Amino acid sequence: MGQGRRDVVQGLPLYQQGAAVGEGAVKLSSNENPFEPLPSVVEAVSQMLSGFNRYPSMGAEDVRTAIAEHVGVDMRHVAVGAGSTEVASQLMHALCGAGDEVVFPWRSFEAYPILTQVAGATPVPVPLTKDLRHDLDAMADAITDRTRLIFLCTPNNPTGTVLHADEVEEFLAKVPQDVVVVMDEAYCHFNRDTDAVDGLALLDGHPNVVALRTFSKAYGLAGLRIGFAISSIEISDDLRRVATPFTVTSLAQQAAIASLAVEDELNERVDRIVAERIRVFDELTRQGWPVLPSQANFLWLATGDDTDRIDGVMVSHGVFARCWSGEGIRVSIGSPDENDRAIEALSQAIKG
Ligand SMILES: *Cc1c(COP(=O)(O)O)cnc(C)c1O
Repeated sequence: MGQGRRDVVQGLPLYQQGAAVGEGAVKLSSNENPFEPLPSVVEAVSQMLSGFNRYPSMGAEDVRTAIAEHVGVDMRHVAVGAGSTEVASQLMHALCGAGDEVVFPWRSFEAYPILTQVAGATPVPVPLTKDLRHDLDAMADAITDRTRLIFLCTPNNPTGTVLHADEVEEFLAKVPQDVVVVMDEAYCHFNRDTDAVDGLALLDGHPNVVALRTFSKAYGLAGLRIGFAISSIEISDDLRRVATPFTVTSLAQQAAIASLAVEDELNERVDRIVAERIRVFDELTRQGWPVLPSQANFLWLATGDDTDRIDGVMVSHGVFARCWSGEGIRVSIGSPDENDRAIEALSQAIKG
């Protein structure tokens, strides 16, 4: 422990961001929204540019009120952070202490094990089933008297699978009331499966459920950083108690308010991304790739041991996806042109 550094921190990976790509290359590695921000959102952000010598609103009342009206709750149920990753971190710090356990599916969002360890808690990853869905039975079995928090990720990053409402209800019936279940719904706008669970719909009957959402994906505000949780007032208050003050900038707050005001336009873009997802899925399936049906803005190719070779071919064609050596490749859905480039690059990687 030289220089007072923490052992647990030195064991953590340095976050691997989707590759920075050069001129002419296609970046499909971070599940970003391919559309430029809407003019009305740019306008709202521009209006804040002259005032940033001042701190943003600490209580973020205006944006929390706008979110609350949007989802139909009182604003005291809303907590915000610099992206829902930060809100997930607030949940860890608010609810976990040393030795407490956080259960999550694996493979899933890479931040879960990192945030858990930074908060001093113990990660309990539960492997996905063979068809790459959450293993809810195994997750229920993983609950101990040290479990404080469970994350469900639906649609799951990076596999794109969704949880169904009935299986989540069944799962919640097995979870003790003092264990908080977070529904991480970063990609919920892209879901078209009518049986899929809606985290917000669970809140009434289940005070231990938290719905976690973000403006980064469907709403295209990834670079501004704002996400939110809807939960009981008690949990919401605790999130604000542990939050680092002022992380959500005035620009992000205004952009989020402006985005909610043009939801229809944003949803129309989401529809176009979903249509592209279906087109790319069909194309890649026709090419013979083991591609999983997805309800998110990305596709998972279960390429196993062949992953590095395939990724190499894609990169040589200037297409950057996210690759997990020995497991698979996650290809974000971009603009139609970008998707064509990915389809073409993958066609070059088919083994002759
Ligand atoms: C992208 C993502 C988030 C949140 O991202 P932020 O930009 O921090 O809001 C949360 N969960 C999952 C599963 C994601 O993929």
